[in-house]
Parts: sequence; C-alpha cells; structure tokens
Amino acid sequence: MTRTQVAIVGAGPAGLTLALLLRRQGIESVVLEARSREYVEQRIRAGVVEQRIVDLLVGAGVGERLRREGLVHHGISLQFGGERHRIPLSELAGGRTIVVYGQTEIVKDLIAAQLADGAPLLFDVDGVALHDLESDRPRLTYRHGGAEHELACDVIAGCDGFHGISRPSIPAGVLRSYGRDYPFGWLGILAAVPPSSDELVYAYHDRGFALATMRSPELSRLYVQCRPDENPGEWPDGRVWEELQIRLGLDGWSLAEGPVLEKGVTAMRSFVTEPMQYRRLFLAGDAAHIVPPTGAKGLNLALHDVQVLATALADWYGGGSTALLDAYSDTCLRRVWRAEHFSWWMTSMLHRPEGADPFETQLQLSQLRYVTTSRAAATSLAENYVGLDAV
Ligand SMILES: Cc1cc2nc3c(=O)[nH]c(=O)nc-3n(C[C@H](O)[C@H](O)[C@H](O)COP(=O)(O)OP(=O)(O)OC[C@H]3O[C@@H](n4cnc5c(N)ncnc54)[C@H](O)[C@@H]3O)c2cc1C
Repeated sequence: MTRTQVAIVGAGPAGLTLALLLRRQGIESVVLEARSREYVEQRIRAGVVEQRIVDLLVGAGVGERLRREGLVHHGISLQFGGERHRIPLSELAGGRTIVVYGQTEIVKDLIAAQLADGAPLLFDVDGVALHDLESDRPRLTYRHGGAEHELACDVIAGCDGFHGISRPSIPAGVLRSYGRDYPFGWLGILAAVPPSSDELVYAYHDRGFALATMRSPELSRLYVQCRPDENPGEWPDGRVWEELQIRLGLDGWSLAEGPVLEKGVTAMRSFVTEPMQYRRLFLAGDAAHIVPPTGAKGLNLALHDVQVLATALADWYGGGSTALLDAYSDTCLRRVWRAEHFSWWMTSMLHRPEGADPFETQLQLSQLRYVTTSRAAATSLAENYVGLDAV
C-alpha cells in the first residue's frame, strides 16, 4: 500500500489543475487516470476560457503558452433574421475579456507541468474503486501495469467527469440530483481552415442553431444543432458545410471551408448533484455538474471548483480548520447554479426544437431582439459570459 495526502481520480482539467494548485502549496497528491496520455491530450472539447480562469492558470505557472497563443476576444455576435448583432463583452463587463484556447492545450500544459515536477500521474489505470468513505482514512484500489495497487489518503477528489465512479460511490440517499436532457445535440467539426469571423458567432435559424468558433488562427471549430442521438456517419463533410453555410449565411460574408479533422455529436444536458462532498470525498467539475455548452461554462466551473478545494485543503493542512472544507459544496454551488441558469437560458434562446411551438418561437425572437437592443439585457449576457466575480 502506498500513501498520499490527496488522491485525485481523473486527469481532466479539474484533476490536473487541482494537483498543480496543491503542489504549489506543498500538498502531495497522486492522479489516477483511466485513459492513455494520448487520448486525454487529443480529446477535443471546450475552448472559451474566462479571464479569471486564465489568471488562475497564469498564477499557478502554466499560463506561458496560453498567454502567447490564446486568442483574446472582446465580443461575440448573435445572428438571427438575416442580421448579425455584436455584443461588446468587454465594453459591457468592465473591460473583461475571454480567451479562446483549446481545452486540449490546457490539458497538455498541465500534464507537461506535472511530469516536469516529477509529480505522480498514472495513465491507463483500470478498475479504480473507492473504499472506507465513511471513515477518516479512505482508500482506493486500482490495477496498473498488470498489478493490483492500494492507495491510502486523507482526502479523495473525484474529478472523473460525468461518467466516473466517484459520484456513484457515495451511499444511496446522500445526494440529490437535478437535471434536464434537451431534445437536441451539437454536431461539431474541427476544420483546418482559418476562422471566417474574428469572434464567435451564435446563429439562431429556422433549421436550427449553429455556432462558428475557433481554436487557433489556422483551426475553425463549427457546430450545427442536431438530434441528441444523431449518428455522425449520416453527416458527410459536404452535408455539414452545406448546413453551416445556410445557418450562418449572411449577405456580404462567407464561410471558408477546409478539411475536416474531427467530427462528433454531443448531447445537451443540464445536471447538478448536491452536496458536492461526502465526508472526505469531494466531487469537482463534470463529476458534480454538467451544463450544455452554449454558455461555455463547463471548463470554467470545473477549474473554479478545484480552486475552492485547493484553498480549503491548504487551510486545513496549514491550520487544522475544516471551515472552508465544510463550506466547499455551498461555495461552489452558488457559481454552479448561476452558470446552470445562464447556460439553460442561452440554450433555450438559441435552439429550435423539432416541431417548434410557434408561441415559443416568438418568445425566442423577442428575447433575441431584446438582448441585442437593450444595453441592460446585453450587459446581463456579457457579465455572465465573461464570468461573474461574485455570485
Ligand atoms: C463539445 C463540447 C464543447 C464544450 N465547450 C466548452 C466551452 O467552450 N467552455 C467550457 O467552459 N466548457 C465547455 N465544455 C465542457 C468542458 O469540456 C467540461 O466541462 C470539462 O471537460 C470538465 O472537466 P473535468 O476535469 O471536470 O472532467 P473531464 O474533462 O470529463 O475529465 C474527467 C477525467 O476523468 C477520467 N475518468 C473517468 N472515469 C474514470 C475512472 N473510473 N478512473 C479514472 N479516471 C477516470 C476521464 O478519462 C477524464 O480524463 C464543452 C464540452 C463539450 C463536450
């Protein structure tokens, strides 16, 4: 049996950032990841990072490439009825910006920092199981390199995403979950073509939502609304581009096409579990909550959770107080529910359900006109999008 202070399940953005923040405070951890390093580093996901999360990563010493290569954006556009309306985020939200930098790149930077520090990170770990959660001496067992292992610790951080084992390891009756599955998903492509717009374009269209975003000056990331169970095989590249051209089309603007490097469907879901802790097990990131990606909040929430957790653990190890650890769930959930509402609101405003109710359609259009003509309404969108300080 080996021993550490904090056992972290999952090497996604939450688990890796937690390990880094703890290391900076002199707290030991071991990260256990089910997948290979290659898989984790190639998984295409989020790309919009709030400024406060950029500041967190820079402050923790992994922001050098993010600062150099991240694309700083000051606005987004909402498009409907054949017109594109810019929401000047920075002007409305006290000068704040968002940074477009792929989650894959953040994960690569975090893994590189972990390995450079010689900190324990095990990939291809199998059969992780959590034990003695009701005690002050929790343990994990797992298989790695063909052998069975046991890891004793003070605290377990469940950073293993929505489908992980940490949340289901909590005894029945402890958690209360809230959620919604939406009747649509996003078919996303990554294309080797420079973005056609300098900023993100969110398009509401009779045929369904579309989003034009990017990962770098050479890589476009584009989405079209589809069914949640859509088979990407039914979307040859030509059909994807055709649909994007229609939904994003605008007089005087054209969408450049290029080779499709990756294609996938994401079902849209809202989910929160409360509390985010059970004795010495703390859930963080997608393990505890999911937002539909329309508000670009999932990655940002995950990193906020671990920032709160790292501060609380440092306080506990440093002075013995459990006050911040005891408050972990409540502290995180305030921001989680704000992001849940914002993500639900953006999703509801911009997507067209199949067989849309004409009354709802009129409400959506009215909301879009309001948010693009009222400074107060646009400010509300902007401050949520760039990330609120206090929630
Ligand atoms: C298409 C798409 C677009 C998105 N866009 C945005 C965006 O623009 N902005 C934004 O903020 N968010 C966005 N998100 C959400 C964001 O990607 C997630 O919220 C983020 O990945 C959460 O990080 P995490 O570390 O909590 O979980 P994950 O990234 O899911 O990491 C969990 C890790 O745990 C590992 N694991 C799972 N089970 C086990 C186990 N039993 N044992 C060991 N390891 C295990 C997994 O392999 C994984 O590496 C998007 C998501 C998708 C799918």
